[in-house]
Amino acid sequence: MGQASDDLFRVTLLGTGAPPPRLDRFGPSTLVEAGGQKFIFDAGRGAMQRLHQLGIPFADITALFLTHHHSDHVVGFPDLWLTGWIGRPWGKRNTPLQVWGPEGTKQMMEHLPQAFAVDIRVRRRNYSPEGVQLVAHEIGEGPVFENDGIKISAFEVDHGGEELPAFGYRIDYQGRSAVLSGDTTFNENLIRHAQGADLLVHEVTAATGSAAESPEQLKRIGRNHTTPEQAGEVFARVKPKLAVYNHLLLFGSARAEDLIPATRVKYAGPLIVGEDLLQIDIGEKVEARAFGATV
Ligand SMILES: [Zn+2]
Repeated sequence: MGQASDDLFRVTLLGTGAPPPRLDRFGPSTLVEAGGQKFIFDAGRGAMQRLHQLGIPFADITALFLTHHHSDHVVGFPDLWLTGWIGRPWGKRNTPLQVWGPEGTKQMMEHLPQAFAVDIRVRRRNYSPEGVQLVAHEIGEGPVFENDGIKISAFEVDHGGEELPAFGYRIDYQGRSAVLSGDTTFNENLIRHAQGADLLVHEVTAATGSAAESPEQLKRIGRNHTTPEQAGEVFARVKPKLAVYNHLLLFGSARAEDLIPATRVKYAGPLIVGEDLLQIDIGEKVEARAFGATV
């Protein structure tokens, strides 16, 4: 750790994967710690396990933010919410969970308690009734959360062909900032909102060789996601102290090792391909380390 807690500004990639049910890359989810507050952005498959690996009980999470409603970004939500309510070291939540997200968030947070009504009815006898409550807030572009020196803003991104609202987030704390792209194709609005960011965590897609998907499918993916060549232009124009890839969508024979060389066509700055539980401290310097690595 090594930092006073007021000064702490840390981003941990809980999951760097996508829909494929891999064991090494869980679904997209990112933990942001700033001062004494902790936020989760997206709740992909396995977010609860990764949080538990960090030794952080769900009770400690201040709020949760969704970038969009594709299932790979939300299927881990019921696990965080309900397992995180159980009164064991990984859970113990006894305050309502505030959830920010695009249109559809209120509907989901109203219906999930109905879907799990039997479990909630039974467990309420043993656990805090407040700890299972969900409070939904639907977002537009602009500041969405401000508390104790932390400002979280949403900006629209282009998850294009899918016709669903999608946002990225910018977190500002003590003059430092992190930007999370959410799911997007190359997007000028993201470049605008990411200016001056210390850390830029960006999604990426690559397809090479005889991709298993049809050409139409690949075209659709291209309208919704960012290639490393395009991301290179984004990074070159934002100039973050560190750029990190997450949400790796690899098709055909595309490999994670090929992402950096493809990005180098346009961007020569600091760049890491994210792994689950990669931790990035944003201080004077922006420093990343694998989980378990000593500083
Ligand atoms: Zn998506």
